[in-house]
Amino acid sequence: MVRDVPLIGVFGAGQLGRMLALAGYPLGLQFRFFDPAPESPAEPLAERVCASFSDEAALQRFAAGLRVATFEFENIPLHALEHISSAVPVSPPLRALAIGQDRWEEKRCFQSLGIPVPAYAPVNSRSELEEAVDRIGLPAVLKTRRMGYDGKGQATIQDERGLDSAWRALEGQPLLLERFVPFDAEVSMLAVRNPSGATSFYPLVENVHGDGILLTSRVPATCVSPELEEQARRYALALLLALDYVGVLAIEFFVEHGVLLANEMAPRVHNSGHWTIEGAETSQFENHLRAILNWPLGSTGLRGMSVMFNITSVLPDLERLLRIPGAHVHLYGKAPKPRRKLGHVTITADDQETLHQRELELRAVLHGQAAGDSALGIR
Ligand code: AMP
Repeated sequence: MVRDVPLIGVFGAGQLGRMLALAGYPLGLQFRFFDPAPESPAEPLAERVCASFSDEAALQRFAAGLRVATFEFENIPLHALEHISSAVPVSPPLRALAIGQDRWEEKRCFQSLGIPVPAYAPVNSRSELEEAVDRIGLPAVLKTRRMGYDGKGQATIQDERGLDSAWRALEGQPLLLERFVPFDAEVSMLAVRNPSGATSFYPLVENVHGDGILLTSRVPATCVSPELEEQARRYALALLLALDYVGVLAIEFFVEHGVLLANEMAPRVHNSGHWTIEGAETSQFENHLRAILNWPLGSTGLRGMSVMFNITSVLPDLERLLRIPGAHVHLYGKAPKPRRKLGHVTITADDQETLHQRELELRAVLHGQAAGDSALGIR
């Protein structure tokens, strides 16, 4: 008997799409991507519809025969997903995407569920900016409500003198002013739910950003108490249930004086979950696929300790990377460009000392290669 092969449609053919396909093939899945970009990391792995998100004929070609559609980046026009949703189930739910696309809606959603956030205010004019500063104080961060990622679309205002330049850089679009949080750490929670209501949570991940871009993710987090872990799970569960969520959801938090403050959520697999490929019993990519197909979720238990380093801007010497024991190298096939994520390396080990030693070796390779490249921000 020929078994029916589920065909998964993925909006976005970037590295997240590529890693979804890599996780899906062992499960017997097939993939089709939709992405308007001329070149994309998932291209060599599966068929791809290359068209504008407003091309309805292309959307129909994409949707034909899909078991389920999903997305791997947030800035997809909602109408593209709505267009196919009468023909194909789309997960995660469009409501989660709509909220995740707007920082203001996102914060209101967190607050409505009792999830603490830094003080914030919407800003639509220069006078509203001044009112918001009076209320929230300085330093503060001015952000675009929509289309911001990897630190793009935001400006930190240190004092009154910085108001003008921040306003000039971002004016003309809906904005949000947020209190600048002098955080002790940044952490993220990756949670997953399937339509039957099964949920699972990865341990909290400790993240370091530089210039708005994720540099490293560490598990187990060094800065986390069992109470904080429990708290993060409660917040994530509240979101999963309120949004009737299906798939992997990532929530990023600041830790300030032992308290979690939600920064943002991503209704998709997330860069701070790449370590799960080697560091967890089931990767975030596999669990996302299991969830959207309403299959049983896989264990989120750890396989040792992990640190993930993003490779940004410059490609390091591959042979040197491969010589490091416990280093798992992932390259996305992208041309180097400043601030572009080109790949990642996850270091795994069974104990802290070995992990530390391997991490030093990795830092030496990345640092040596990218000396002077501040975008890499290796510390
Ligand atoms: P975002 O695009 O909001 O995730 O911001 C990227 C990074 O900028 C965060 O991970 C933080 O490191 C930093 N950042 C963003 N908002 C704030 C804030 N309100 N206070 C302090 N740092 C922030």
